[in-house]
Formats: sequence, structure tokens, C-alpha cells
Amino acid sequence: MPDALKVAVLGCGVVGTQVVRLLTEQADDLTARTGARLELVGVAVRSLDAERDPVVDRALLTTDAAELVTRADLVVELMGGVEPARTLLLSAIEHGASVVTANKALLAADGPTLYAAADAAGVDLYFEAAVAGAVPVVRAVRESLAGDTVRRVLGIVNGTTNFVLDTMASDDLDLERAVKDAQRLGYAEADPTADVEGFDAAAKAAILASLAFHTRVSLDDVAREGITGLTDEDVAWAARTGHVLKLLAVAERLDGGISVRVHPALVPLEHPLAGVRGAFNAVFVEAEAAGQLMFYGPGAGGVPTASAVLGDLVSVARHRVVGGRGPAESFYAELPVLPAHAAVSRFQVRLDVADRPGVLAQVAAALANLGVSIEAVRQTPTGTGPAHLVISTHAATEAARAATVEALAALPVVDRVVSVLRVEGA
Ligand code: NAP
Repeated sequence: MPDALKVAVLGCGVVGTQVVRLLTEQADDLTARTGARLELVGVAVRSLDAERDPVVDRALLTTDAAELVTRADLVVELMGGVEPARTLLLSAIEHGASVVTANKALLAADGPTLYAAADAAGVDLYFEAAVAGAVPVVRAVRESLAGDTVRRVLGIVNGTTNFVLDTMASDDLDLERAVKDAQRLGYAEADPTADVEGFDAAAKAAILASLAFHTRVSLDDVAREGITGLTDEDVAWAARTGHVLKLLAVAERLDGGISVRVHPALVPLEHPLAGVRGAFNAVFVEAEAAGQLMFYGPGAGGVPTASAVLGDLVSVARHRVVGGRGPAESFYAELPVLPAHAAVSRFQVRLDVADRPGVLAQVAAALANLGVSIEAVRQTPTGTGPAHLVISTHAATEAARAATVEALAALPVVDRVVSVLRVEGA
């Protein structure tokens, strides 16, 4: 049994700094928990001159990450981005290191290559922090639910967009002002595109779907729609109809395969995900035997994310001490990933229509022609001018949804299709 394990940390930014802090400040506890001393042998950065937290021993800093990974037993990658992270992790694995990463972009782009390399080398690949920060959902889906059949995963996995939508609802702001607030408070990047356009959530959806359905799902398989099309009026109407708007990552089994997507959705107020406020994350899992589970907590931030990274580090270190390995890639099910138009959800459509008798019948007939059945209709007369119709439908495919919008927009009695939003979690 080794007395000590050499640990290399790649990246010393928001998360890396806190990982170094916990490794340093909790060294004795970590030794007791793993059975070996975790000896930090180097921290790779881009710039040696940048200002650093004093907890980081400058003597450990290096710009030669490629050399560092060849002399560690355990490599923690916290640089982000696909390259050079991928090349460095593959080299670390080839040199016999177990690896821990928080890099959702890399895993969603090329997870199978990393898994295959780890398998060939007989080492571990752990990535709890890549989805929902501190929330232990990767381990839950990958290990705790390994004996169950997951039907559906609904996740609020991007704290920035959750904060923005929550602020729009509670402070009555439009999207642009809510994004500015998020930037001012440090919840959004100067360029918020990856968050507001759903790219970040899509990478996490791919990772969760792969684990939940034992199937390879990459970022390219995920149908993605961000929150930039939403208005303050959409948010206000959500509340008026007993919902809250959330950007959801959805992965579910349907006939013939799985649907993996990211889009805004109306969530009924009584659903547990509706209560997830601010920048928090939550993942709601429906499994055949376990039933409904929800994992909730801080989805980002240096300290919370470092907790998840350290949890992984302890796991891979324990394997080094007592033998054995964590789970390998599980993709035996190889379920087809269905195209975007095959996704199924209920939806709510808001229309401005002529305020006269017979209009509702024409709208209902247009929906019926497309096989979309109505669950409820609410009409708000405006006194003068058009009336506002809010129609809730039963489940229909994405293809039917698109055809419905087209058919309604073409009806002479319809002034305007104001919005069409999916409803999830009902
Ligand atoms: P960050 O603050 O931007 O830090 C990145 C670090 O990596 C910096 O120290 C940078 O060096 C170093 N780096 C970048 N490219 C490098 C290269 N080519 N060679 C050597 N060092 C390099 O990033 P972060 O927010 O800590 O995120 C790190 C990872 O954790 C990402 O994969 C991210 O998706 C994931 N994650 C972050 C959070 C969060 O709350 N921030 C939450 C969950 C997951 P310099 O310091 O010299 O610039």
C-alpha cells in the first residue's frame, strides 16, 4: 500500500484554487479517509506571474502541464475547454494516473475516448463536478441507480439562466436587465452566450443522458434552445397560469429511443423543480423502482465545486490504496437518440384572436386536424380589440407543435401567435 499519492492539479482558477485550499487545509483528514497522504506535486497554470490566493504555494506552479502529468498518480483537470485538456488527460492516463475532471465541455465532446483510454490503462475517470457543481448527481445516476431503470431526468443544471429567469419573475425585469444583474452579481460571464443559449446545459444533458440510459450521447445529439426568445410577458403569464419558467435539460425514454434536449419550459408550481430559486441547481430523476428523486444544491462556485472534486479525489485515491476501480463507461444499451421533432411534451399556446363568437371553435378545429388535443382553454377579453387565448394541450410531438403554430398563424381569426411554450413535469 502506498504511503503517499502524488497529486497534480491542472488549472488554478475559481475551482482549482479551492481544490488546492482543501487539499492543503484538510490534509490530515484526507489522509485518514483515503489511507495515503495526498501530496500536491504541482499546479499547472498559464501565467506564473498572475496574482494567486496565498494558499497556493508558488513553488508548485508550472506552465509545463505536459511534464507535470507524467509524474503524478492522480491528476485533477480544472482548466476547462476541450484542448489541451484532452491531450493532457490522455497523457496522464497513459502514464498510469487516475484522473478527475470537472470539464463538461470535454466529456460531452469526447467522453468515450477518455473512458477507453482509462479502461486500457486500468485507471479511474471521475467527473462529479462536471454536472451541477456540488450536487452529487453523477454518482447517484452512475452508481446508486445502476440497478434501476431510469425513465426520465429533468434538470435545472445551469445556475445563470435559473438566476436570470427567477429575477425576471420576482423583480419584474426584462431579459436584458436580468442578464445585466446576473453579470453584476457574478452569476453570468461577460459573454453569457454559453449559458443563455443553452450550450452549457446541453453538455450536462449529454453527460446525464449517457449515464442514465447506458448509451453514448454527445453534445451534437442534444436538441438545444436557449432562453433568449423569452419575454417578461412570458414570465408573467407563466405565473398567471400556475407555472414557473425554467431552462430544463430533459432526457427521457420514449418509444423507439431516447430524447435529449434543452429548452425553456413551464413547470407547474407544485412540481419540486418549481421551487428551485436563484442560481441553485436541481436534478429530478424518475426511475422505475426508486420512484421520484431530487438532487438539489449549489451548481457552481469555487468552494462548492471543489467539494465535488475532492469527493472524487478521495474515491480514486482509495482505489489506489486498496485496489479496484470505479465504474467504467456503460453504453451497452445503445439506445437510438431520437431526432428533435420526435420529442413529446404538453404545450401552452397564447394567441391574440378576434373577440367574436365562433373563434374558439375554429382554433379547436385547427388543433384537432393536427391530432393535438386540448386540455384547457382560458380566454381573457381585453374589452376593446383582440381577446387573449391561453390553450393548454395534451402531449404532442415537437413536429405537431411546429405544425400547430403554422396552422394557427394562418387562421384569419388569429391576429398573432404570441408564444408557444412546452410544459414539463406535469
Ligand atoms: P478558470 O477560473 O477560468 O480557471 C482556469 C485555470 O486553468 C486558470 O488557472 C488557468 O491559468 C488554467 N489554464 C487554462 N488554460 C491552461 C493551459 N493551456 N495550460 C495551463 N493552465 C491553463 O476556470 P474555473 O471556473 O475554475 O473552471 C475550471 C473547470 O471547472 C471548467 O471545466 C469548468 O467548466 C468547471 N466547473 C467550473 C465551475 C465554476 O463554478 N467555476 C463549476 C463546475 C464546473 P491562469 O490562472 O494562469 O490563467
